[in-house]
Amino acid sequence: MEEKVYVRLSGIAYESLVNGPGIRRVLFSQGCRHNCKGCFNPDTHCFDGGKTFCADDLVADILKNPMLKGVTFSGGDPLEQADKFAYIAAKLKEKGLNIWSYTGYTFEYIRENAHKYKGWKELLNSIDVLVDGRFEQDNRPEGLKYRGSANQRIIDVKNSLKYGKVLTLDY
Ligand code: SF4
Repeated sequence: MEEKVYVRLSGIAYESLVNGPGIRRVLFSQGCRHNCKGCFNPDTHCFDGGKTFCADDLVADILKNPMLKGVTFSGGDPLEQADKFAYIAAKLKEKGLNIWSYTGYTFEYIRENAHKYKGWKELLNSIDVLVDGRFEQDNRPEGLKYRGSANQRIIDVKNSLKYGKVLTLDY
């Protein structure tokens, strides 16, 4: 029998309108190493906080809601449990859901270091959009959508991988 996959989350937003386009389920990962000044979610930093959830149960519950256009992985930093989120993303992609992930790492750093960390390559290959980079408290002009600070980019992952350069989406 296959072993069950568990992911550690700080929380879940069941129907969010602010973490990507359309109505989305948001899974907030527990654990983050970036320590950005002014972080809104310091409770998500510690790696043994939050609660563990069975990945298949999370997927089943998402698929029960026909209103959901997609799923967003937020944090914490989902890259710290990339293998778990890659597992979830692959199951959701099969059902045609659109997947976004936030991370404090940059796209370039992830590409260069993907071979060193469990699940990084798989996660990149199974998400549609990555919002990358650390949160910069002093870099927040008016009107930013889906991003905490202006250095962060909303990246079209599939096309960026295909063309070998960062291609961003405008929102
Ligand atoms: S990456 Fe996100 S969760 Fe982590 S410290 Fe920065 S703002 Fe906070």
